Amino acid sequence: MTDLKAAALAAIDRETASLRSLSEAIWDRPELAMEEHEAHATLTKYLTEQGFDVQSGYCLETAFKATWRGNEERVCGPNVAVICEYDALPEIGHACGHNLIAEAGCAAAIGIRAGLETSEKPLGRLTIMGTPAEEAIGGKVKMIEQGCFQDIDIALMVHPFPSDSTVATFISVCCLNATFTGKASHAAAFPWEGINALDAAVSAYNAISMLRQQMKPDWRVHGIISNGGAKPNIIPEKSTLEYFVRTPTAAELDVLAGKVKNIFESAAQANGCQVDVEEICRYSNVINNSDLMQLFRSNSESLGVQFDEKERMAGSTDMGNVSHTVPSIHPLYSIGTDAFNHTRHFTAAANTDYAHSKTLIAAKSIAMTAIDVLTNPEMLKKVKATFRCQLQEAA
Ligand SMILES: [Zn+2]
Ligand SMILES: [Zn+2]
Repeated sequence: MTDLKAAALAAIDRETASLRSLSEAIWDRPELAMEEHEAHATLTKYLTEQGFDVQSGYCLETAFKATWRGNEERVCGPNVAVICEYDALPEIGHACGHNLIAEAGCAAAIGIRAGLETSEKPLGRLTIMGTPAEEAIGGKVKMIEQGCFQDIDIALMVHPFPSDSTVATFISVCCLNATFTGKASHAAAFPWEGINALDAAVSAYNAISMLRQQMKPDWRVHGIISNGGAKPNIIPEKSTLEYFVRTPTAAELDVLAGKVKNIFESAAQANGCQVDVEEICRYSNVINNSDLMQLFRSNSESLGVQFDEKERMAGSTDMGNVSHTVPSIHPLYSIGTDAFNHTRHFTAAANTDYAHSKTLIAAKSIAMTAIDVLTNPEMLKKVKATFRCQLQEAA
C-alpha cells in the first residue's frame, strides 16, 4: 500500500468515534426531503470542526459544499467530489441508511485530505457535496441545473444495501402527479349533480394495472392515491394520483410515461373530469464509470470485502443525473442485514456498530480510489474517455 493510502486509512481510523456519533445524530432525527435542517446543521458543524471550508445552504437551503483548504494553493489539479446524502423517509425514518451515506462522505473526505497532505507535490482538489432530497424531488438534479458540478472531475459515493455490489442497476424514473377535478355534490341527495374525481383516479389506477401485463420485464410503474376526496357524503371534486414510472433508459422512459399520461387523460375524459399532470422529478439511470468502479472494487477487496455480483435492479437515484454529468460511481455495501431498503428492519440496521464499521470500509475504498486517480493523470484521462464512451452507449 502506498504512503498516501496508508495516511488516508489512519486518518479515518482516528475519527471513528466522531464519525459514529455523526451518523447516529442524523439517524436519531430523521427529516424528509428539503426539510433536513438538523442534518444540514450537524454535518456543516462537523466539517467546519474538521477544518474544511464550508458553505451552508449552497444552492439549496439544506445543501452544502465543503472544500479542503489546500484547494486554493493547488488549483490546477483535478477536483474530486465525495457525495453526502441525509434525507429520510416518511413514517419509517432512515430506512435507506442515508445517515450512513453522510458518514461515508465525511470519512472519505477526511481520508482523501490526509492523502493530499501527505503528498509532497500538489495532486488536486477535494470537494464534499451535501446533496439533500434524494428520496423526493432530487437535490442533485437541482444542483446540477445550478452548475454545482461544473468544476468537478469525478464524483464518488457509496450506498448501504443488503449486499456488497458493484453491478446492481439503478434505472431512470419520472415522478408524475395527476390531479383530477370534478364537481362536488351531496352524495345521497343529488349525486347526479356531481362529477366524481375519485372515479377518474380509480379508473386510471386500474387501467395502469392492466397496462403492466404489456410492459417489459425491467419496466416499473407504481403509485398511490394521495387524495381520494374529503368525506363519503360529498361526491369527490378533487383526487390525486402519485406515480413513479421507471425504465432502464431515457428513451424507454418517454414511451412508458407517455402511455401512463394517456391513461390519466382518458380516465379524466371517461368520467367527465379535468386532469392536470405534473412531472415532479426525473432521474437518469446510473452509469457507473467502469474504470472508477474497477479501482473501487480492488481497493475494497484489499480491505477484505467479498462482492456478491448478482445482477439486480436496485431502484433509482438522482446520482444517475450526476453520473451523466461527470464520471461517477454509486457502489452498494452491505450493513449486516438481509432486509431490503425502505423497510423498518433496514432502519434498525442503519444504526448499528456493524453498519458503522462497514461504512468506514466503504469510505476507505472511496478514499483509496480517489488517491489512485489523483496520483495518476493517465488514469484520469482514461476515466474521462470511458465516461464519454459509456454516455454515448447509454443514449
Ligand atoms: Zn431510498
Ligand atoms: Zn437511498
